[in-house]
Amino acid sequence: MRILKFGGSSVANPDAIKQMADIIAQKRQDGRIAVVLSAFHGVTDLLDEGSVKASEGNKDYRQILKKLEDRHNAVIKELISIQNQSHTLAQFKIMFNELEDVLHGVSLTRELTDRTRDFVLGFGERFSAFIISEYLSDKGITAQYLDAREIIKTDRQFGSARVSTEESYKKISDYFKTSDPESIQVVTGFIASASSGESTTLGRGGSDYTASLISAALGAKAIELWTDIEGIMTADPGKVNRYFVIPQLSYEEAMELSHFGAQVIYPPTLQPAMQASIPILIKNTFKPDEVGTKISDESLPGPSIIKGISSIDNITLLTVRGSGMIGVSGISARIFGALADASINIILITQASSEHTICFAVLPTQAEAAQQAIERAFKYELRDGIIDEIKVEHELSIVAVVSDDMRHKPGISGRVFQSLGKNGINVVATAQGSSERNISIVVDRENEAKTLNTLHDAFFLANVKTVNLFLIGVGLIGGKLLELIQQQAAKLLDDYHLELRLTGISNSKKFLIDEDGLPTDNWKDRLFAEGQDADIGHFIRQMAELNLSNSIFIDCTASNEISEAYSDVLRSNISIVTANKKANSSSLAQYEQLQKLAFEHNVAYLYETNVGAGLPVVATLREQVLTGDDVMKIEGVLSGTLSYIFNTFDGSRPFSRVVRNAREKGFTEPDPREDLNGQDVGRKLLILAREAGLKLEFEDINIQNLVPEEGREIDSIDEFFTLLENHDEDFAELYDQARSENKKLCYIARYEDAKATVKLEQIAPDHPFYNLNGSDNIVAFKTRHYQDSPIVVKGPGAGAGVTASGIIADVLRISNSPSFREEW
Ligand code: ASP
Ligand code: MG
Repeated sequence: MRILKFGGSSVANPDAIKQMADIIAQKRQDGRIAVVLSAFHGVTDLLDEGSVKASEGNKDYRQILKKLEDRHNAVIKELISIQNQSHTLAQFKIMFNELEDVLHGVSLTRELTDRTRDFVLGFGERFSAFIISEYLSDKGITAQYLDAREIIKTDRQFGSARVSTEESYKKISDYFKTSDPESIQVVTGFIASASSGESTTLGRGGSDYTASLISAALGAKAIELWTDIEGIMTADPGKVNRYFVIPQLSYEEAMELSHFGAQVIYPPTLQPAMQASIPILIKNTFKPDEVGTKISDESLPGPSIIKGISSIDNITLLTVRGSGMIGVSGISARIFGALADASINIILITQASSEHTICFAVLPTQAEAAQQAIERAFKYELRDGIIDEIKVEHELSIVAVVSDDMRHKPGISGRVFQSLGKNGINVVATAQGSSERNISIVVDRENEAKTLNTLHDAFFLANVKTVNLFLIGVGLIGGKLLELIQQQAAKLLDDYHLELRLTGISNSKKFLIDEDGLPTDNWKDRLFAEGQDADIGHFIRQMAELNLSNSIFIDCTASNEISEAYSDVLRSNISIVTANKKANSSSLAQYEQLQKLAFEHNVAYLYETNVGAGLPVVATLREQVLTGDDVMKIEGVLSGTLSYIFNTFDGSRPFSRVVRNAREKGFTEPDPREDLNGQDVGRKLLILAREAGLKLEFEDINIQNLVPEEGREIDSIDEFFTLLENHDEDFAELYDQARSENKKLCYIARYEDAKATVKLEQIAPDHPFYNLNGSDNIVAFKTRHYQDSPIVVKGPGAGAGVTASGIIADVLRISNSPSFREEW
């Protein structure tokens, strides 16, 4: 026997009811089942509202009745075939008349006792179970309506009656013994009756409990609670960004979680199931194939060391303190005695071992009564100053971390408090349940969601590393970078448990920072709508204040102003990845300072794309240096533009024509002199030389400027080209001379014997650069280990795509470094 309980949303409308019927039909094939039903979704609330209105003499209760009648009639008409409809409608009408009569009575007497209210509320389940039993029979699934008042007996505590288990179990088992095993019993949830026969209810949400009682009485194989969510979640989906279904829980864990507001299951439900060791399954009627949550004797290890996190949204904390409490016995007995006398429900208690204070949490509605009860009980102590005035703190929340494992495994509370501390969340009070299944933390109510998210991330997303990217510059390269991040996001998350989050972005006009992350596709709209005026100082300050772990500042500009701010970034313990050459090619002092700051602050400063775009030039060199190798010579073609120009200059066209053509193809800077002057190549060589350990200033580099002297000061580019034409012959001569010796022209940057030069050279066919094509870059490192045959890195050394992927490579180098993966 299995007991299937369907909640209000599973019977909310004809479509839902049909889904439910499919599940019932299928389950029946595997053995005997009984079904427990809630009222149609919202009906209990309407009955409640109607009875209150009636008791106030408000005629609106009739409209509510009308609404209820129409809704149930509509379901009957839609679900039940014509030939059986009139019978069902007539039976329903008889029940409904009874309800109308009671409410009419209430409206006349203007009196609504708890007893009458229970009677009225119970109609929802009676209607629903009756209609569904008729519907199932109509569909050919033999079913019988069973009014639970016949089988579940309670005391007369209306509103939330206490079940007489022994008597009820006997009635249930007797009933099922004599009932037809071929027929499915369709039982009303929620309602029961007192021994005197009056209707009672088991408390709101009580249908779960009905199912549990029946299961325990019959020794059922399982209880299935069918609802509209996939199970008990690791945290409240309304409050936490990422949550998961908990596949398995022990009864105790479920109890802790349900106590702290995980509303999936009505807490009293657990007791009968637990006593009879019957597993409870929580399933989604609308996604029946999902595994759901299983609650049973065992506590199986899940994806995290804890099972779930829950919270109580609004509590008040009262603190009793005073010197008179130390060493005096009986104080807590008096406090809690007084509270018990005033029927106050205490949610949490803590006492510091100094015995100086005792504090406890209650619901805000009971706070005043609690305060008065204590003031009454300690009237004299308060008067004499032995006890201080009772401190009352409002607007607090309790967050609880739940797990059976806490009993055996140390470190859970350490992780709780460390993650809260890191996120700047102040803990007002704490308690660890002596069951050791629960650590409760009291925080300001405004921090509730943050606390839940922080703890959830710390325990459930520990394997996923979120890296916060702060991007400056969204031109060609920055734009491409965002595209790549977007493309790679899923793979990085799945395969490397890495989430690259765009936390801040800035172009030259605006900047925007959002801790929750910005979209990598539609960032423009948000930057435009919400951005602040661009200001690198503000940007860095706000980034630093957020104080997020794993932050990387990415510079995709070519701006001096930005590179000058790097030291502030590093001082804020934030790593830098930059495509901007400015900082590394400025003074040696600045270069060395940045290296030093990065080291001192234990963060990374990476700039692979400074030389050869995405090609692993800097990384290769760095590895050689780190492994103790001596760099003897660096040779390279480090400008894609000059590479292209000299690879195409084959004597067939004048030099000026080749340059013009390169410019038209977009291979040069708008002013090609910026390429021809060799400055950019010089900067790259400077960076490589410094990386190799040479203490060099830019001025120390010998750069051959290919722009003829008279052409350097000319404003107009057209005029410059005219001038260049005058020099075509010089270049032709150089070419011919090289040609005659079977050599090629090549603009080479070289570092050798502590000297750095950049100049146009003639190279023989046995030179590694002789066969260079198109606009490719090439670098050769001759080191002690690689003397005879240098390490050569070759490939496209310019372009937004390769540069962006070089930046990502740096980001991944940082993200995967051990210090970034430190915790858990
Ligand atoms: N219909 C009742 C309520 O809404 C009982 C239940 O649904 O479990 O509280
Ligand atoms: Mg319910």
